[in-house]
Amino acid sequence: MNQAKVIIVATLLAVLGSLSTISATLYLSWQRAADIESARLLTIAQWGIERARISLDDAYRALQTAQQLSSPPCSPAHIRQMRLIEMNSRNMEDIAYFDQGILKCTSAGLILREVKQTPIEFITDNGLEVSTSILPKVNGGKGMISLGSAPYKVLIDPARFADIIAGPEVQLAIATRNGKILGGLHEPDPALVQQLLEGSQVPHASQILRDKDLIAIVIEPEGRLAAQMWREMVVLLPLGLLLAALIVGVIVWVSRKRLSPLGELKLAVDKQEFIVHYQPLIELKSGLCVGAEALVRWRRPDGSMTRPDLFIPLAEESGLILPITDQVIATVVRDLGALLQANRELHIAINISAEDIKTGRALDVVRQALNGTDIQAQQIWLEATERGFMDIDAARTTISTAREMGHSVAIDDFGTGYSSLAYLQGLPLDTLKIDKSFIDTIDTGSATSSVTPHIIEMAKALKLQIVAEGVETQAQADYLRAHDVDFGQGWLFSKALAPQEFIAFYQANLRQCQDSR
Ligand code: C2E
Ligand code: CA
Ligand code: CA
Repeated sequence: MNQAKVIIVATLLAVLGSLSTISATLYLSWQRAADIESARLLTIAQWGIERARISLDDAYRALQTAQQLSSPPCSPAHIRQMRLIEMNSRNMEDIAYFDQGILKCTSAGLILREVKQTPIEFITDNGLEVSTSILPKVNGGKGMISLGSAPYKVLIDPARFADIIAGPEVQLAIATRNGKILGGLHEPDPALVQQLLEGSQVPHASQILRDKDLIAIVIEPEGRLAAQMWREMVVLLPLGLLLAALIVGVIVWVSRKRLSPLGELKLAVDKQEFIVHYQPLIELKSGLCVGAEALVRWRRPDGSMTRPDLFIPLAEESGLILPITDQVIATVVRDLGALLQANRELHIAINISAEDIKTGRALDVVRQALNGTDIQAQQIWLEATERGFMDIDAARTTISTAREMGHSVAIDDFGTGYSSLAYLQGLPLDTLKIDKSFIDTIDTGSATSSVTPHIIEMAKALKLQIVAEGVETQAQADYLRAHDVDFGQGWLFSKALAPQEFIAFYQANLRQCQDSR
């Protein structure tokens, strides 16, 4: 993923992450508020049912007692007994005696007018006959409920059915199974109650509780739910915001890591984004291509190439050079295995990091890579810079092992570091690569130009093969040939080539050299 993509994806993720966390928080607040309100209304409904049940039971007991009265109906003794029943009940207003549908007397005395029994609208589970909206003359026309068990009826104030303690915003209605309202608290709107009983949607919070022959309907303005939601949000929103901030923080952290050069390089190693180009090595006296140096390139997914000097230092510093070396070794075998097996004189030089020279690890990797192929160990050269020789004992061990395995070992970039003769004498090297900076000075008359012949002489004295790096002009090549330098590598001959290009170069060079013989 390139940088722009990482930034776009990270921004999208951050926006999405925080939006979804915050909306989840809002949803949760609303859900919790709805649950709390619903539970509260249910409790009120339960209280309502219990309260109504007390009134019904009370009336039932009063009527049972009245059934057992033995005095002649509406005699002074009978009326006294009825008054006693009424006084013993906390929940009823009056008790009346009917004869053939006509009211004869109540606990207050004889009734002389003709008052007809009101129609029965509902019969409770325990057999009480219920009439709602009785309008007795005595109390000024206030609606009453009558509960009857012939020949008696008791009158109950509707308020008694729903007489519970609840906030003024709550309305409670107690209804019979067939929807007749027995009583209510805070004057519930009958139309609204009917709508709720029919299951219609209303713009109120509500709860309906059915219990045998009774139904409790609790209604509350929706604003309470919103208020409850705000209360929940005060607790949950800071948590949501904190979580959103955490998510954004993690995304920023991850994307910064990905965007950092090291993060990018790590990903490149994971995704094996490295390819290898090959720069031909030419035998100066014959012009024959005898080998090539494997030079790694980082090809990004968008196709762009990153030069090794831009990432090798970071790779060495971070240790990522080890897996990169492994990929280079595997790639060389894959790219040029067939060419190497067909041409035994051909070698490929692989750059080995300082760390690998110290530990010798890369030798095992090479051994495994060659295992099962017909590539010979002497066809793989190893190059290391002086930095790999700092721990001279470890370096000597690795170089000796490499040579025992059959590899040729070269000191790279010679002359750029602190290389001393003593160093070189102590190491069993095969080849010395003179750094390009010395080749550049050939025939320029500069101070360093006088150093170049000494390096050549010294290498010869140490019986080392010599490779001149960065040969760009014919004059340089002529000079080097005149000084018996064995090999040259540089743009004069070829730049580093893609595998197929190198194979073509090698074969063309081979034909040319054979023809000229
Ligand atoms: P190096 O090992 O000294 O490789 C030679 C560098 O000089 C290469 O650069 C090559 O393209 C360049 N070069 C060759 N001939 C000429 C010439 O005539 N003129 C000029 N101006 N340049 C020339 P490159 O490929 O960019 O590699 C740079 C450095 O990266 C290498 O220097 C080497 O130190 C490191 N490197 C490359 N591949 C690997 C690898 O696989 N492993 C390790 N550890 N390091 C590598
Ligand atoms: Ca090199
Ligand atoms: Ca070099």
